[in-house]
Formats: sequence, structure tokens, C-alpha cells
Amino acid sequence: LVSRKDHPQDTVVMIGDVPVGNHRKAVVAGPCSVESEEQVRKVAESLKRQGLRLLRGGAFKPRTSPYDFQGLGEEGLRILRRVADEFGLKVVSEIVNPADIEMAVKYVDVIQIGARNMQNFELLKAAGSVRTPVFLKRGMSATVEELLFAAEYIVSRGNRQVILCERGIRTYEKWTRNTLDISAVPLLKQESHLPVFVDISHATGRRDILLPVAKAALAAGADGIMVEVHPEPAVALSDAHQQIDIPQFEKLISDLRQSGLLS
Ligand code: PEP
Ligand code: MN
Repeated sequence: LVSRKDHPQDTVVMIGDVPVGNHRKAVVAGPCSVESEEQVRKVAESLKRQGLRLLRGGAFKPRTSPYDFQGLGEEGLRILRRVADEFGLKVVSEIVNPADIEMAVKYVDVIQIGARNMQNFELLKAAGSVRTPVFLKRGMSATVEELLFAAEYIVSRGNRQVILCERGIRTYEKWTRNTLDISAVPLLKQESHLPVFVDISHATGRRDILLPVAKAALAAGADGIMVEVHPEPAVALSDAHQQIDIPQFEKLISDLRQSGLLS
């Protein structure tokens, strides 16, 4: 069902009134983790100023260590919803537990399924049983074909609103957190009609190469990018090294607009 063979036309995923896909270029931005309402509001104000509509923030955090900040849970979703409504934005947030999907759709406009859960088949089925759009990230050791099969799990349950996201894969390279598989972008666009995004923050794990990586992603045909933005990255409770602050974010967006790769 996700293959382009039977559906040659690009799927446009409607996030409320925000269309995604078919080569409109969109930006999903916000903190790695929701930490407070003030924190989220600062990022939301910046999105609004720049005419961007899609706010991300993690409320349920799949952390490598059980001793690290695990997220604010449902309270985090409440904060996102409140702030997004205040600024006319749409909420993208990761859900990790199939049992939380029904609760989550009361707050979020897009259910994110993270890299660590790309093959959590019960979660995929639960996300397929609702009609809220799904932002599906490639597993860090998943092939392009496995990503498409994961999407197929969702779509085959009746939820056709799926966005694919390349976020880097594990290789031996240590200078980046992951290795951005740029060829996945045209491959996914060729094989599937679903929108394709690139998460430039988790793909690189660093701030200094975000602009060229974002340009590469958009030039390769991505329908959008995801980027982590925090008002004060140095004190962030997760991914402090890769998040950019608000001036850096606004510079990134204006550089991309100047390059003509983002409108
Ligand atoms: C995230 O986007 O918040 C995240 C945890 O990313 P990933 O699942 O790609 O590691
Ligand atoms: Mn993160």
C-alpha cells in the first residue's frame, strides 16, 4: 500500500490545515524533550515569527540509560497542546507505548514513532488503528525496505497518513552521532508515495554542519526537515550537544530560504 507502483501520485498528509508532502517543504522544530511551558513557549514564538507551523517536543523519552530524564509524560503533551493552540501550531510528539495511543490523540496532531520503536509491531498496529498522522522514523539499524514494511503495518490498518523520516543509521563513523543515509531520500521517494523527512539533528548529533546537511536533504528531494531547538541548549535535559538555540534556528531557516530550498 505504501508503494508508488499502485499509487503513482504523492500522498499529501494533512496535519489539520497544514499539508505535508508533494514537495512542499516543511520544518518540524522544537526541543528534544518538553521541560516546561516557558521552554516550549519560547520555541513556539520563534516558529510563529518565521511562519512555521509544526512544533515537536518529546514527552515520553526513550532514553538509553534508565537514569536519564524520561520526559514529563502526559503533562508534557498537555503543555505542547496548550502552547500550540496559543500560537496556531500543530504538535508532533513521540509515543512509545501502544496503550498510550488513544490518550495521545487527544493532545497531538502527529504521533511520532521513534527509531527505537520502528519495529515495535504492536505500536505500529495501534498507530494504524487511529486516524491521526504518523511520523515514522527509520530504525538506527533498519534497512530502507524494513522502514517501508513498518509503514505498511500502519497503512494496512487503515491509517494512510504516514510521513517517513530518515534520521541517520549506525556506522563505524564517530564524528557524527549517526550517518545520514542521503540516498535513502531519493530511494524512498522513488519507491513510495509517502512524504519523506530528514531529521538533521539526530542524523548528525552536532550543530556545526546542520546547514549543509539540511540543504543536502532538501536538494535530494526531502519534503521537510526536523530540527531540535532549545532556548538554552547547554542546560537541556536531553541531547544538549545537538540542539540549537533560537538565534541559530532563525539563522538556519533564513539561510535555507535564501538558498531557495525552502519557501
Ligand atoms: C526524537 O526525535 O525525539 C528521537 C528520540 O529521535 P530518534 O527516535 O530518531 O532517535
Ligand atoms: Mn533528541
